[in-house]
Amino acid sequence: MGTPRDRPGFAPQTKAPDMAVQQNKVSKSRRNNRRAHDSLVAANPNECTNCGELKRPHHICAACGHYDDNEVVALTEEIDLEDDAA
Ligand SMILES: [Zn+2]
Repeated sequence: MGTPRDRPGFAPQTKAPDMAVQQNKVSKSRRNNRRAHDSLVAANPNECTNCGELKRPHHICAACGHYDDNEVVALTEEIDLEDDAA
């Protein structure tokens, strides 16, 4: 008792369902609680202290490879892929 199967007029499905059907209604409270963390947060870029380019906080500068005034990633000259130096 208590399940939909026990209600009068319940007919078992004779063919396979073609889509998923939720078992229980999601209340407005539960739905809104789920969506409480869905809002997007605006990016908050900082200026690189070395080159002034906007960069993500606590990340290496993509433009010059510096972090905290130290060169962490050395940037190379443009690599010529056409050159057959093998
Ligand atoms: Zn930089």
